[in-house]
Amino acid sequence: MIGLPMRRLFPLFALFFSLPALAETNPAWTTPLPPFQIADHLYYVGSEDLAAYLVTTPAGNILINANLDTSPPQIRASIETLGFQWADTKILLNGQAHYDHMGGAAEILRETHAKNMVMEGDADVVESGGRTDFLAASGSVPPYPPARVDRVLHDGDTVELGGITLTAHKTAGHTRGCTTWILPVHLPGEPADRVRNVVIVGGVSFWSDFHFIDRPGQPTSYPGIAQDFANTFRVLRSLPCDIFLGAHGGYFRLKTKLPRLARSGPQVFLDAAGYQAFVTRNEADFEAALKKGQ
Ligand SMILES: [Zn+2]
Repeated sequence: MIGLPMRRLFPLFALFFSLPALAETNPAWTTPLPPFQIADHLYYVGSEDLAAYLVTTPAGNILINANLDTSPPQIRASIETLGFQWADTKILLNGQAHYDHMGGAAEILRETHAKNMVMEGDADVVESGGRTDFLAASGSVPPYPPARVDRVLHDGDTVELGGITLTAHKTAGHTRGCTTWILPVHLPGEPADRVRNVVIVGGVSFWSDFHFIDRPGQPTSYPGIAQDFANTFRVLRSLPCDIFLGAHGGYFRLKTKLPRLARSGPQVFLDAAGYQAFVTRNEADFEAALKKGQ
């Protein structure tokens, strides 16, 4: 979830509509996007703004992000359009445990029998369907169908399948187990030995329901949240990034890059400068919020 909950902007509307219904009206989250290749063995299978990625291997495929509880049929259609099988999804990973990225997890696990691997800090949130999220009481992150977790990940853990290795970096704060994934890839048309590093950012945003500073009557969202955010920006700055991706298309300006994809190929996603600018901009927002005493 990014941005200010609409409930805050339209309190009267909240009397008539539940927040999930409101949130799902964001058309970019549910509008299908034709799937496309990002690199060898890496494809985009999400909607216009809710990103999902398919990593293909000879031993089966890895899906990153399950999106909304209504998203699995769209993700499945994208995978099948690319010529891959839904049932070959062996592992489900995610960037964060909010409903717009893990709402579809239970259905995907039921249909594909994939193993669900989730970072510590988010594992209990996924298993409770968002009910143990530190923001749950605020109403800004609606619950979703609970999904079992098969493997709890820790910072720096790797996930391996069919010769492909992804590394999980714990970039907590947005959620307690928010995860940024990196994997080395080869781009079509480049020399065979040229390796490009992909960074898939889990999330760094916050809104008025996040509290970083402990004060009477308003405790921090969770102990250590400010340190987590600060550490997350340190980690993100240090990651080698050639190809910048994330849990929302908006993070890496998917909309402005897509029109160039047909002409220029996957090289349009090479954006080390855009990645650093994203980290710098969001870190500045966080530091400004800290200064204001949020
Ligand atoms: Zn979120």
